Amino acid sequence: MTALAQADLATDVDELENHAGYDVEAILARATAVAEAAERAGEVVLAHRARLVQADMRQRAGDVDAAATVFLAVHDWAGRHGCRPLLARTHYHLALTHHYLGDQAASLEHMLSAVELLDDDALPGLRILCLLRLSNALAETGSPDAARQRNLQAERIAVEHGDEARRMIVLNNLAYQEFELGDIEVAWAVVERMHESAAALGRDFLIAERDTIANVQIALGRYADAERTLRDVYDGPPWFEVHDAAYAALTLARAQRHLGALDRARDSLDRCRRLCDENELAAVRVLVLAEQAELFAATGDFQDAFEHYKQFHIASEEQRNSQQEARARTRQAMLETAEARRDAERYREQARRDPLTGLYNRRYVNERLPQAIAEAEAAGRRLTVALLDLDHFKRINDTVSHDAGDKVLVAVARLLATAPECWVARLGGEEFLMVLPAVGAAARLEAIRQRIKAHAWSSITGELPVTVSIGAASTVPGDGSDQSDLLAEADRRLYQAKNAGRDRVVYA
Ligand code: GH3
Ligand code: MG
Ligand code: MG
Repeated sequence: MTALAQADLATDVDELENHAGYDVEAILARATAVAEAAERAGEVVLAHRARLVQADMRQRAGDVDAAATVFLAVHDWAGRHGCRPLLARTHYHLALTHHYLGDQAASLEHMLSAVELLDDDALPGLRILCLLRLSNALAETGSPDAARQRNLQAERIAVEHGDEARRMIVLNNLAYQEFELGDIEVAWAVVERMHESAAALGRDFLIAERDTIANVQIALGRYADAERTLRDVYDGPPWFEVHDAAYAALTLARAQRHLGALDRARDSLDRCRRLCDENELAAVRVLVLAEQAELFAATGDFQDAFEHYKQFHIASEEQRNSQQEARARTRQAMLETAEARRDAERYREQARRDPLTGLYNRRYVNERLPQAIAEAEAAGRRLTVALLDLDHFKRINDTVSHDAGDKVLVAVARLLATAPECWVARLGGEEFLMVLPAVGAAARLEAIRQRIKAHAWSSITGELPVTVSIGAASTVPGDGSDQSDLLAEADRRLYQAKNAGRDRVVYA
């Protein structure tokens, strides 16, 4: 592919990761297209990055299991290839997965790794999101001060880079955090910064932002303001996730109840319930029951209030159970991904071994030898390749047994003991390959010939001797000889060894 097309793909992936959109379906479709294009172009890292965005959207749409298995698989690939930027991203996503799984400690650990692995040249947008998520993980694990610091750091980076859209995300996060920590004055100060940010962006607040602001207003006792903040929640500003809208409708109902506008509160609650039913928002649906109970109590209908409280407790218990089941399913899916990977590795290894002797096989040689030659060449070392063929092996099969022949092959494999930088394969039949450093190779091959001849064979072969003929050739740095040149040369010398009477080494 051309350098230009490659740069385009990289830009596409950057934009995807930096999406400021609210439309999960659209981002998912775009991520899928970019992942396929990157795949076709052989851009593995870009394809993985697009696939992470794809999985992230699936997670937002509720498919946590499928997302988790993608995050894990990419994480594994990134680890094996030492790809830091990709690892930073997979840690980020796995932090969210563990957050959904309710394991906040694991979430924090992943987030710390993500921030640590981010390179200095990482896009500021990614750094901001990581700091934000880290801040939430710290808050969830009981470190509010550290959480605040990370949030403020994220805001600083956003301001430095003029990234007003992300500054708003940070501020919304910070305000909600302060609200949850009960520091309402500080939360309100942040809301004022949110107004600045919205003005700079030239847009209205999004639903999630309005919900934060309304919650702070309710905590301050400013119920009418809270109702005004959320007045057009049903038909107004866009939402990123439909549950933002449902939460906002619930907040609105609370504000209206506090105001004493019980009819409007009832209406808001009805709309919220419809949103929950249409979109299967089980978690919000449970909270609706509690608010409904509050509403009955506010009208003096304590019988119905009590009834709804009971329903709320039953529903929240059911909700907890089904959440636990879902978490167990996701953990199982993650476990199976790890197992499938271990199986694949085992099969891969098996496919490269000769079952009789346990030595590497020809497939391994075809993969490993060119690499070994290139490495030696790059390091300015000489490498020796030796072909070893047992002499008159057919006689053992014919006069003793095929089984005895097998035992000889296994014993020879053991005698071809290897040292560092040296490996042995069985190419087939009674032919072996040995790859070793050229320095000292002649003496080592001669020692192997003698060791095989001197071995106590009589228990297997009776009177028949076992000897080996060896032909060897070495690389010459800079002459560009490849695997087939070397093997052809070694084979010619093996033939010479056979012709000269067998049981000998021919080497240069
Ligand atoms: P030379 O000294 O010229 O190499 O003679 P040779 O008898 O060793 O060579 P040849 O190629 O004629 O015969 C090799 C024999 O190895 C023939 C084949 O039946 C036997 N053989 C190949 N694979 C195996 C195996 O896995 N087990 C056993 N027992 N025999 C095998
Ligand atoms: Mg032979
Ligand atoms: Mg042979």
